[in-house]
Amino acid sequence: MKRCIGQGKLILPVELAVCIGAAIALSILFNSINAFERIVNFFVKHENWQLDEYFCVLFFGGIGALVLAIRRAADLAREIREREIAEAHALSLARHDPLTGLANRRVLQDELPALLEEARSSTSQCVVFVIDLDHFKPINDVYGHDTGDAVLVKVASRLQRVVGARGLVARVGGDEFVLAMLQEPGTDAPSRTAIQVIRALSAPYEVGGRLLELGATVGIARAPVDATLGDDLLRVADVAMYDGKRAGKGTHRFFHADMDQRLRARAMLEAELREAITTGDITPYFQPVIALCDDRIIGFEALARWHHPTRGTIPPDEFIPIAEDLGLIDALSQRILRQGCIAASDWHWDTTLSINISPVQLKDSWLAAKFLAILQETGFNPQRLIVEVSENAITDDIQHAAIVLASLQNVGIRVALDDFGKGYSSFSHLRELKFDYLKIDSSFVESMNTAESRKIVSAVAGLGKALGMPVTAEGVESAEVADALRELGCEHAQGFLFGRPVAAIEAAGMVRSYDDRAELLKRSAR
Ligand code: C2E
Ligand code: CA
Ligand code: CA
Repeated sequence: MKRCIGQGKLILPVELAVCIGAAIALSILFNSINAFERIVNFFVKHENWQLDEYFCVLFFGGIGALVLAIRRAADLAREIREREIAEAHALSLARHDPLTGLANRRVLQDELPALLEEARSSTSQCVVFVIDLDHFKPINDVYGHDTGDAVLVKVASRLQRVVGARGLVARVGGDEFVLAMLQEPGTDAPSRTAIQVIRALSAPYEVGGRLLELGATVGIARAPVDATLGDDLLRVADVAMYDGKRAGKGTHRFFHADMDQRLRARAMLEAELREAITTGDITPYFQPVIALCDDRIIGFEALARWHHPTRGTIPPDEFIPIAEDLGLIDALSQRILRQGCIAASDWHWDTTLSINISPVQLKDSWLAAKFLAILQETGFNPQRLIVEVSENAITDDIQHAAIVLASLQNVGIRVALDDFGKGYSSFSHLRELKFDYLKIDSSFVESMNTAESRKIVSAVAGLGKALGMPVTAEGVESAEVADALRELGCEHAQGFLFGRPVAAIEAAGMVRSYDDRAELLKRSAR
């Protein structure tokens, strides 16, 4: 805009020059045809007409009209110039990301065909890298959008430094970038570039006196091997990037056809899972928890099962992570709890119900309130509920996890540390969080025949006693293991030896048959 105003100042001298030029031209013309002489003669001849005044008015009026016309023409020229500059500015805005100044998706789509054509007419290949930042969302959520924006600007300049003049860098989404360049086919140039990008973006970012860390996952697609059209190339590079994300982030992936199929299958599973959670195709199965001192059922653990119309029963390991990704775990968990509470009405008044929660639920400050509402709705005593938290779930925000767990305990719900021993920081969890039960990981129980595992199980049983937490051994499949656990002082056990996870109706049958057996034993003892 400044440039337009600046140019407006030139208009007056231009107009003056035009007027002077016109005056000179007129006087030359008048001279050449002896116009002044003729006019003077005319006035002398018709002095009685008194035309000279009219003529003077007409003459000077004509000159004024000429000046006005010239002025208007100059104005028009200026307007056209200003419009051209504004249009160029708008076009530049439309083609560039206003935050980072990088090219945007439109430019990428416009320029990819030319790059593809260049690759076709040479011996090189066109390589597209789709880059998605890892852990960017928490930076935005925790430190705010200004910090997030500052990080994105730094990401853009690091990418430009990596690519240099070799190719095009574009920002195509919030934290998604694309590089497009020509590279030698049959070399490891694409992997080297991807590694350079990941390394560059993983170095700490200094923003507002803080050091922030994030990573990047890169999907790579090559033309003509993976696709020949620009849009297709971008799509398949995106597919490769998602594959990398699922494989654990911070990595790069080349596209191949299986990925496309996997992605389609996953998209279908996601749609079906959404429906299954609302229609009730996912139900809890119940596995008994036994008191090792007398083999009595003291509770059941609810384990989610998806009864898929064509694929049969799908285990939780397969669909829980998807439900977590889709933000459906809350709805799923509440459904399992509600159904568990209803099923528990067929059990003894003191039989416990254990449910598993996911890591994301440890971030939910309303978890206790949500659970309590379901307990009230179903008339279930909070003292009978045990919430199991897997060791691996307690990773990032341990302080907040402590608050959520304490809020559950404050309403009478008890909390168990699941899969104890499987994670890296088992002991620090015990120091920083308060649990009511310990569940020793099945991997130690399965290998109880080795001296090391026996020692570990014995130590955990001792630890539980010292901290006042009953220990449950998971994955008990044989009577020998059950005996060994009794000897080592484990209080509770769970495993195929005592019962597999079963539907609610069978769990109720299990309770009755244990009661009948106990009654029989009591009678025979009399
Ligand atoms: P987990 O909580 O450690 O559950 C124990 C797993 O071991 C269950 O697998 C159970 O069927 C299996 N198991 C029990 N006894 C034995 C045995 O004697 N031998 C063997 N080989 N396995 C045994 P499942 O049902 O497939 O559940 C897997 C995991 O899925 C669970 O591990 C839990 O972390 C998660 N999960 C299950 N239901 C839910 C849920 O409703 N919400 C959440 N967030 N996670 C769930
Ligand atoms: Ca569990
Ligand atoms: Ca477990």
